[in-house]
Amino acid sequence: MRGINRRQAVAASAALLGACSRPAADALPPWTGAFVGDAVAAGHRWRDGGAQPPRVDDRKPQRCGVLIVGAGIAGLAAARALREAGIDDVTLLELHSQAGGNSRGHRIDAMPCPLGAHYLPVPDDRNPQLLRWLHEIGLARQESGRTVFDERHLCHSPQERVWHDGAWHEGLLPALRPGSPAHAQAGKLSTAIDALARELGFAMPAAGVDVMPGHAALDAQSFARWLDAQGITDPLLRWYLDYCCLDDYGAPAAAVSAWAGVHYFASRHGFRAPGVETEAGSDAVLTWPEGNAWLVRRLAEPLGERVKTGWLVSRVQEQRDHVEVWAQDVSRESPAGGPMRRWLAQQVILATPLKWAVRAWPAAPAALARGAGRLTHAPWLVANLMLDRPLADRPGVAPAWDNVVAGRTGLGYVDSAHQSLGFRPAAHVLTAYHALPIDQRPALLAQPWSTWSRWVIDDLSATHADLPARVRRVDIARHGHAMAIPAPGVRSDADLVALRAEGLAGRVQVAHADLAGYSVFEEAFDLGLRAGARVAAAMGARRPPV
Ligand SMILES: Cc1cc2nc3c(=O)[nH]c(=O)nc-3n(C[C@H](O)[C@H](O)[C@H](O)COP(=O)(O)OP(=O)(O)OC[C@H]3O[C@@H](n4cnc5c(N)ncnc54)[C@H](O)[C@@H]3O)c2cc1C
Repeated sequence: MRGINRRQAVAASAALLGACSRPAADALPPWTGAFVGDAVAAGHRWRDGGAQPPRVDDRKPQRCGVLIVGAGIAGLAAARALREAGIDDVTLLELHSQAGGNSRGHRIDAMPCPLGAHYLPVPDDRNPQLLRWLHEIGLARQESGRTVFDERHLCHSPQERVWHDGAWHEGLLPALRPGSPAHAQAGKLSTAIDALARELGFAMPAAGVDVMPGHAALDAQSFARWLDAQGITDPLLRWYLDYCCLDDYGAPAAAVSAWAGVHYFASRHGFRAPGVETEAGSDAVLTWPEGNAWLVRRLAEPLGERVKTGWLVSRVQEQRDHVEVWAQDVSRESPAGGPMRRWLAQQVILATPLKWAVRAWPAAPAALARGAGRLTHAPWLVANLMLDRPLADRPGVAPAWDNVVAGRTGLGYVDSAHQSLGFRPAAHVLTAYHALPIDQRPALLAQPWSTWSRWVIDDLSATHADLPARVRRVDIARHGHAMAIPAPGVRSDADLVALRAEGLAGRVQVAHADLAGYSVFEEAFDLGLRAGARVAAAMGARRPPV
């Protein structure tokens, strides 16, 4: 938001709203709902400096061995590594009222739904740490020498469908006619991705492979440019590739690097298109009605009271024999927020987006400040829509877990009741996802809930004309700075590379998906474990860290 004035914000809002049938600005829609799950007021008060300085609570400072700032996936994984190393004196301070960050969940009328992340692709043996944890929590088991996953949580069929030419088709890319240019290009792309996977190696997390000059060459150009050079120009194929980039990276192929575009496929299941022969592997995913908040609960539960929510950490100062951390109680909303409290920790892990880490820690090493400055974040809107009964059937494939409309920039919707095994109540929740262009961040925060809820419903009504009559409630999560965009050059940025590989000297470490240059569960988990292991080693842990 910095650097964007009100006039620009209004212009951006107008551009955004011009793209849909515009509601009367002040007319209230027939459904209820609210903005949910954000801490915009507290965050901006800190950024801008509130009108009144917060009151200081002058009780004795609290002491702990390790203080983790931020209880997102990375912060929770760092705590796991510390506990595995025998370090139990750990406190996590989290801004929001629940742990999980971008992987938090929500409920409407007792029905669980996600506020952000909603699935985890099944990991393969290139990610042993994640597999080990999934075994521990009972999601994975060994059977006849193979890893199998709990079928209750593997996405049930049909997993995905796409609306194209007046009907729903299975998968996210409609079948390409054999002999058509699109079919030939899909085959070519599949071969190119398989060849790069063999030559260079791609894995999730990306730290699992050695960096080769070929990776840097891909990172130096945009995915769109690389696709042009390969002759992948078919509009439907390009829409699909944009969709994939928006879905994982919050930005289209023109804004992400070719490394990111290739990594999306090569680190998972290769590139597969219906009707095109490939070597592609499994695209199975684990998912839950509340999305990845299910995983968050399994990470947070063993930590119990160590996770303290409603604390905004605003100052970190490294001293000779400890780190001083100031946090404000934001659990009670008041014009100046609650009082400030002080913690003294032997070691600190900043598991927040890097730019918040740098803001709280003015003496942060220059490399961290430069790395943070290298990143641009995509704004996202996630809308949970409660419907009183299912939508009318349309031609083609039956309702799937993920439902996407070809040719549109919206990322479609996920049905949070899709995994129900027994009785399916008529009322249910659909979760619609939108990765917005960066210049629409001011509008995301400035426009009222009524405008955004209408915008979301207008977008989905293109395929479901009966949707407006079915909607009872719309709860909207605004993620102003949701995820780092892996723009060209980000993955090979020297500061980010060094921070990932070596961490920081001293008593403060950082752990966040930002370090990877893009945001997925696997990266956040891996970076959290690494930071936890570094701190455990610095503290002379009894057991070797994981
Ligand atoms: C809409 C959306 C959908 C997504 N879908 C998926 C998906 O389906 N699958 C997937 O793998 N990934 C998905 N992601 C990516 C997701 O970001 C990662 O999976 C993961 O949750 C990132 O974890 P993290 O710990 O790195 O960061 P974050 O989630 O950003 O966690 C950082 C934590 O620090 C806290 N914090 C920040 N500043 C302060 C402060 N000053 N004081 C105290 N606490 C602070 C935050 O509140 C937050 O809890 C999605 C992201 C978004 C936004």
